[in-house]
Amino acid sequence: MNTPSPSLSESDIRPDHLLRGHAERYAADIARLFAHEDEFVGVPCPACGGDESRPAFEKLKLTYVSCAQCETMYVSPRPTPALLGMYYSQSENYAYWNRYIFPASEDARRERIFRPRAERVAEICGRFNVTPGALMEIGAGFGTFCEEVRRLGTFSRVLAVEPTPDLAETCRQRGLEVIEKPIEQVSTEGMRSVLSPGGLLVISCPSVKGFDIAVLGKASNSVDVEHLNYFHPASLSRLVTESGFEVLEVSTPGKLDAELVRKKVLAGEFSLAGQPFLQQVLIDEWDRLGAAFQQFLADAGLSSHLWLVARKAT
Ligand SMILES: [Zn+2]
Repeated sequence: MNTPSPSLSESDIRPDHLLRGHAERYAADIARLFAHEDEFVGVPCPACGGDESRPAFEKLKLTYVSCAQCETMYVSPRPTPALLGMYYSQSENYAYWNRYIFPASEDARRERIFRPRAERVAEICGRFNVTPGALMEIGAGFGTFCEEVRRLGTFSRVLAVEPTPDLAETCRQRGLEVIEKPIEQVSTEGMRSVLSPGGLLVISCPSVKGFDIAVLGKASNSVDVEHLNYFHPASLSRLVTESGFEVLEVSTPGKLDAELVRKKVLAGEFSLAGQPFLQQVLIDEWDRLGAAFQQFLADAGLSSHLWLVARKAT
């Protein structure tokens, strides 16, 4: 795989001074969602369908539970797809990201995240003998990844699915083909039916068993109102297999877990009291151990940044 620059820093892709400005927009988005709290619905485990769960924690008024069978963490009760559609179409937070944070951080994101990611997807197609045809990105955001895919010239068509109006407009201004809808409305059967038989599904999502989320829990920035399901390598593999795909590869190529936990500790938002080992690695001997520790997490499937590649049955 193509790895991002080892100097990738979390503050390059999420500039701290701009992040402060988004807090009140995010709070307004959440308040708008919770005005419909009586419409939230209880759900079974999204990975295995089990309905036995244990409480995990509460954050931003949402209740997170852990599946008793497979340890997937998920929000239940949760907003319905219709409420989520409203959330994304009216989001002030994403409008703010579109206007301030994405433009300020795009060069760093392009070089360190999206260009390597586009090259990696092309490499995956080559490795698994899939002729690159159309590529569809679900949640295209600012459009940087789609632009990098188009620049490669590998795919005959690039489709950006993006339900937030300001972000969809940015994608259109880049000359991308945009579908301004939630993926659930693109096809009533979801992703499986928009993929050709033999086509590849590439998923990137948080892993609940990775270091960032397993250590920080609700203090992790990866636990937010927009991620309702927190799979792990085994539970996501099971779900994808049972949905009619052959899982080809599961990996956790994350670069930031250790730095994310370290930053929370240094900011006084998380304590390592009683955790001398983590204190040693993340704080006292960070310069010597930090990079090697993060590499171990990635190699061992223990980063909270999870990738899965699967092929739709023919
Ligand atoms: Zn489960």
